[in-house]
Amino acid sequence: MIDYPKVYLRKGKEHSVKRFHPWIFSGAVSKVDEGLQEGDLVSVYNDQNEFLAIGHISIGSIVVRILSFEKREINLNFWVEKIRSACEMRRAISLYGPENNNVFRLVHGEGDGLPGLIIDFYAGTAVIQCHSVGMYLHREEITEALQTVFGEDLVTVFDKSEGTIPFKSGIEPKNGYLFGEAESFTALENGLKFNVDWLKGQKTGFFIDQRENRSLLEHYSKGRSVLNMFCYTGGFSFYAMRGGAELVHSVDSSSRAIDITKENVELNFPGDKRHEAFAEDAFKFLDQSSQKYDLIVLDPPAFAKHKKVLDNALKGYKRLNKKGFEQIKPGGILFTFSCSQAVSKEDFRKAVFVAAANAGRTVRVLHQLTQPADHPVNIYHPEGEYLKGLVLYVE
Ligand code: SAH
Repeated sequence: MIDYPKVYLRKGKEHSVKRFHPWIFSGAVSKVDEGLQEGDLVSVYNDQNEFLAIGHISIGSIVVRILSFEKREINLNFWVEKIRSACEMRRAISLYGPENNNVFRLVHGEGDGLPGLIIDFYAGTAVIQCHSVGMYLHREEITEALQTVFGEDLVTVFDKSEGTIPFKSGIEPKNGYLFGEAESFTALENGLKFNVDWLKGQKTGFFIDQRENRSLLEHYSKGRSVLNMFCYTGGFSFYAMRGGAELVHSVDSSSRAIDITKENVELNFPGDKRHEAFAEDAFKFLDQSSQKYDLIVLDPPAFAKHKKVLDNALKGYKRLNKKGFEQIKPGGILFTFSCSQAVSKEDFRKAVFVAAANAGRTVRVLHQLTQPADHPVNIYHPEGEYLKGLVLYVE
């Protein structure tokens, strides 16, 4: 086979590649072949001219994102193999196929050996998000591979990479269909219905990563008054209603999110008066509300997108969780989350611990939650673990 242009590593800098870590940082690189463009495929060699890996090159601190540790061509076969393997894994964990669920994450970046690529599957629509130029340049082949693997189960492929490709790259992708076309339609998660709006919604349209945590909340909802803070499209709210909550308040600062939440609640529980939704800032709502709840969910957006803002993020988590503890009735339960990759499990736990102490509450940890199996973590890439949650019993 013809080799790809080369990237050489400095002496002694190949250890992480030999341990299958999928990123190569700029400090490890000694030399790059001339004329390379952002997103090109490259072969990585050590200072002894020994082949190590193939990946996409990019500008920034991560210079190469690795696709293969074997010398091989990155062609349609490669994409079919990778997507088939991802699909088989979802089938093996019973997410692809059952009647009560038609939504799952099909490709979770490094977790599925495809750094920079996210694909969510919504009832026949694959929504692709590229986080690197290299992946974006392969979008047509990825679409073809999806058609090969899913056959008639695939109705459309929608590219939602606007806003996820690094700004510095100069590429300005527009969202659009790569195959077929469909209006947003109703999806099923554990038998509950919701409308997915991949055209306008955040991320790929719905937060699939809270599926199991929503089920756990359903289990604790019976007879309880529930506050679902940062509700987005209302996932936790309609699970709480199915679980027998006596009242559910959904809050989000986005009025569009509140409209979708109302629609989704109506879709599952038409005319049910237990639910009310508020388009309001979280802190404002918690400051102004005199109501106390038996069960509170705090699932804010990532407070820290990178390490530099970690301190501020931790302050944010302390402040928010203190408010949560103050609004919870004795014997109540708090579900609190962080989806910031830059915030470690320990940091988050410490922030919540400080919040509990400041609010003067006695708190027991009931569950430590994380992301579900369709958001797998590559064992050689622990950075892939991003979702952290604590379920707390508050005396
Ligand atoms: N829990 C949701 C996902 C939450 S995503 C689910 O299960 O699907 C985070 C949400 O927080 C977004 O919908 C965003 O609009 C909202 N948000 C961001 N800042 C906010 C603020 N200051 N007050 C209230 N909501 C906010």
